[in-house]
Amino acid sequence: MRNTQDIWSYVDAKKAAFEKLADDVWDVPETCFGEHKSVALHTQALEAEGFRVTTNCGGLPTAVMGEAGEDGPVIAILGEFDALPGLSQEAGVAERREVESGGPGHGCGHNLLGAGAMLAATAIKDYLAKNGLKGRVRYYGCPAEEGGSGKAFMVREGAFDDVDIAISWHPAPFMALNVANSLSMIQTDFTFAGRASHAAAAPHLGRSALDAVELMNVGVNYMREHVPSDARIHYAITDSGGMQPNVVQAKAKVRYMVRAIELPTMWNILERVKKVAEGAALMTETTVTSQVVSAMSNLLGNGPLEKAMQANLQHLGPPPFDEQDRAFAKDMQGTFQEEDIATAYRRFGVARSDAPLGAEVVPADSPRAQLRGSTDVGDVSWVVPTVQTYGSTYAIGTPPHSWQMVAQGKAPAAHKGMTHAAKAMAATALDVLRDPAMLAAAKADFATRTKTFAYKSPLPADTKPPVVKAS
Ligand SMILES: [Zn+2]
Repeated sequence: MRNTQDIWSYVDAKKAAFEKLADDVWDVPETCFGEHKSVALHTQALEAEGFRVTTNCGGLPTAVMGEAGEDGPVIAILGEFDALPGLSQEAGVAERREVESGGPGHGCGHNLLGAGAMLAATAIKDYLAKNGLKGRVRYYGCPAEEGGSGKAFMVREGAFDDVDIAISWHPAPFMALNVANSLSMIQTDFTFAGRASHAAAAPHLGRSALDAVELMNVGVNYMREHVPSDARIHYAITDSGGMQPNVVQAKAKVRYMVRAIELPTMWNILERVKKVAEGAALMTETTVTSQVVSAMSNLLGNGPLEKAMQANLQHLGPPPFDEQDRAFAKDMQGTFQEEDIATAYRRFGVARSDAPLGAEVVPADSPRAQLRGSTDVGDVSWVVPTVQTYGSTYAIGTPPHSWQMVAQGKAPAAHKGMTHAAKAMAATALDVLRDPAMLAAAKADFATRTKTFAYKSPLPADTKPPVVKAS
């Protein structure tokens, strides 16, 4: 490890401004493609730091990119800033208290994710300028990670085509390398159309779209036994056709989410789900159309970059949490179930302790349980060698997508974990910028992993991002 302390000091020098950015974004929680205030805050911060700013990045009104430096390799640091619906919650209290009834909240810590990523990019920018090193660093502010697959749209539009390496992080209970084990995912709407009728006086004339949705769900539930055990199929009825039981429902819609480890398996399951939908339409004499609304690929790992990131994490050690941080985390743990805490330890393969905050760096070979979600960083990882870390920002056992996560989003511990993650990312970026052999090794590893399957965007050409106009 060379001169790592140096790049860490660049992070420390600017951290206050980015803690404020994280807090400011926490204050204006916005969801899926509606992140207008959040992207404005990120754009202002990029301009204040002298980045060359591209708004509307990848054709998305709530995406932004800032670049600094000249020539050399292009290092992308990926950030997010979208919130989740229904999780409005006061900060700093260990009890459920909404700020706005039914409003959104930062239940996945993306206020920290975006600010921490930009802090890393800023430190690299300052380092490049000070040391006359060739290389470009970019911060990508990416919208709609939650359910909208913003990055998959940006990849499809070529926003990462000239990037050499991508680096990101996610808030978590422990500091750990993010080993690539996410699932690919596709969301598809199935819309059934039938014929309305008086449900009592003329039932024989009605053809129920709601019946078709129910039969489709029954059919898919029978299919579950016959898909790979890692696959996941979820659904939500997004339009039940109306509130009147005495009217035969002429229209109904169900949204399906199919997940599998690999894209080809995911596509195969989706084709079978489509057949079940057609069967349901046949049974009910209705018609069905389907439309993919979002999709993302599984994450691809990168050996050399993961090795570099793990070395940087170990060199850094855990964030400097103090007694107050631990006391608040302990209070938060009082609101969790025992199984929440046990699951967090299993997920990271860490031996149980009494510490309420991650007090160690998780070893690369820890025996982690395979608990998989999906992330749109996956699509970036199929076009650019990518590495991610987890930063220790909240109490061990905090349920993902919960009010407890929102409550901790502005805490001093969250800020410390964010700054620490920025140091790990900046140090890894610098390793690549200073060592052409590492860059070459990362690219060679990427070439090997992508040799057997040619990446194709999981988003069909006719799927457009559901952008939300600023109000
Ligand atoms: Zn998240």
